[in-house]
Amino acid sequence: MTRRPLKRVLLKLSGEAFSDPTVQGGIDPAVVRQVAGEVAELIEADGTEIAIVVGGGNIFRGNSPSAAGMDRSSADQMGMLATVINALALQDALEKVGVPTRVQTAIWMQQVAEPYIRRKAMRHLEKKRVVVFAAGLGAPYFTTDTTAAQRALEIGAEAILKGTQVDGVYDRDPKIHADAERFDEIDFLSVLNRGLRVMDATAISLCMDNDLPIVVFELLRAGNIGRVVRGEAVGTLVTGTGGA
Ligand code: UDP
Repeated sequence: MTRRPLKRVLLKLSGEAFSDPTVQGGIDPAVVRQVAGEVAELIEADGTEIAIVVGGGNIFRGNSPSAAGMDRSSADQMGMLATVINALALQDALEKVGVPTRVQTAIWMQQVAEPYIRRKAMRHLEKKRVVVFAAGLGAPYFTTDTTAAQRALEIGAEAILKGTQVDGVYDRDPKIHADAERFDEIDFLSVLNRGLRVMDATAISLCMDNDLPIVVFELLRAGNIGRVVRGEAVGTLVTGTGGA
């Protein structure tokens, strides 16, 4: 894929994207409001169909020190529940700015949200409702990055938009190395072989095997979600061919 306007996308928001960097954990309402506002503008202006997978790392991760000594499957279930908390915060913010939103969870919790049903999710998207996928894949030992890849494939999204704190993929950690270089485009195999931190290897492999592009971009730069959706050269495009 070269850069081009996208009609249906899957936006992946990590739990950290929800948190105030100066505070440990939790949800920063200003960040959630900003994301909701940009999504609302995009749907209004371009009619983009937007599904969102939210992470839970700001609250709990199954492989984190706070889960030390726990059974991994139980710890991962806690992590999956954490994503539901973020999803509800996002749903609230989206609906406050007038965007009809449905949360679908991979773990059944019918008083809180719809269960994940692919055909229903597709119908919501066609009606320009945002669908927020929560509770990951419902299975331990996976991540919400892998969930993003899997759900994007199921709903026929044209790309995964991975919003991060940095403005793309670098050859080294730009927070540590001042001379780190950013890629405009890179291919999946190079990401895997060079161990670049785009998404985990399971997620990257799924995207590579199914030709699903990823755009890694800085989430909180105002207007960025719209720029990526309109095909502007923002962040790093990860594809099977390095963008060719
Ligand atoms: N998780 C899981 N299965 C899934 C998705 C997530 O077990 O399909 C758990 C896992 O413990 C993970 C946590 O949920 O650490 C939060 O997800 P993730 O770490 O992907 O969140 P993010 O890094 O995006 O904030």
